[in-house]
Amino acid sequence: MDSVAAEPHRAAPYRPSHPPRGLSLGRAAPRSPTGALRIAMLAPPWIPVPAPGYGGVETVVSALTEALVERGHDVTLLAAPGSRSNAHVVTLLDAAHPDEIERSLHEADHVARAFALIEGGQFDVVHDHCGFTALAMADRLDVALVHTLHGQFTESTAAFYAHHGHKAAVVAISRAQIECAPAELHVVAAIPNPIDLRAWSLTERKDDYLLWVGRMTEVKGPHRAIAAARAAGVPLVLAGVIQPGQRAFYEREIAPHVDGERVRFVGEVGGEVKRSLFAHARALLMPIRWEEPFGMVMVEALACGTPVIAFPEGAACELVVDGLTGFLVADEAAMGAAVSQLERIAPAACRAWVAGHCDVDVVASAYEQVFRDTIGARVQPLAARA
Ligand code: UDP
Repeated sequence: MDSVAAEPHRAAPYRPSHPPRGLSLGRAAPRSPTGALRIAMLAPPWIPVPAPGYGGVETVVSALTEALVERGHDVTLLAAPGSRSNAHVVTLLDAAHPDEIERSLHEADHVARAFALIEGGQFDVVHDHCGFTALAMADRLDVALVHTLHGQFTESTAAFYAHHGHKAAVVAISRAQIECAPAELHVVAAIPNPIDLRAWSLTERKDDYLLWVGRMTEVKGPHRAIAAARAAGVPLVLAGVIQPGQRAFYEREIAPHVDGERVRFVGEVGGEVKRSLFAHARALLMPIRWEEPFGMVMVEALACGTPVIAFPEGAACELVVDGLTGFLVADEAAMGAAVSQLERIAPAACRAWVAGHCDVDVVASAYEQVFRDTIGARVQPLAARA
């Protein structure tokens, strides 16, 4: 631990544009003649929305939900207890389950309760971000369902999507993710994860450190970031969560290098501490070794005008435009060498690229189109879709 304090459980400042509305499922508005949609936003049961610290899906759901409300839609957020939004917020379980992520007991419970509320013609569309249960059961629902793919395909999830994918409109978060999808899965669009740029300010003047932010796993490469920063001769700040099962990796690969000076580990960060870390870093290092389906940390860095130096894996090849928003490099030595080239990257160009591709309004508009197409396709009777 060091001078950059961890702030694990403080949410980003929340400024409602009007008081959050209470549960109103009994009086949901009829289909709007103005084109406003009645959207059930189904978040996972694990972590509140917005995420107080680590929580990629919850961060995405929060930004998109607020943008859809601002765009005039009637949105109901079905999420873990502790969630806050300008949408109607409905929490279904008694507690969040941050230490039991993907435990089917909680997911099935959460989704079954959500489906019981969703039935009955109160919604035009369900937007599902919640693992597997809702997609597998989507053909039992009398409402169109749009499912966003948030994870990497593995052998078992690929088989799952091959079997159940036709039950919903499935949206990918990168072209790289689509390339890994099973042939049987029809993906209707690739829509990047959103960021609300108002929460992230452009910072031109950087401090003398490199940054790595993520989960303490081999695939995210915190140990490779240490090697790259050492090669560059620049201090490194590591920020992230040690999830269940990751302690041994941390103790073996990271802890021996943490000296509070050349390598600092600040633990899980959130809120202003996190934004400041991103904003003042010379670059974000992404020495990933996996098919990264998106990589929200890259967009967060770019939003502050902080370039990204990444290995050319998965969606890094879409978010890092070599020579414009950072550099794509082959290994740790090349990553270290690229640090000396950072003055070639203009912070304003990084932010402008994110504004054009991932700004929450751009993303919300793309989802609106998918919602309308999906609702239109739903007019055929259930039996014909079997
Ligand atoms: N994150 C955070 N605090 C941390 C570590 C990560 O808030 O200590 C956030 C990070 O800012 C990003 C998300 O968690 O919004 C991680 O998303 P990403 O897509 O980069 O990685 P993954 O979903 O694969 O873990």
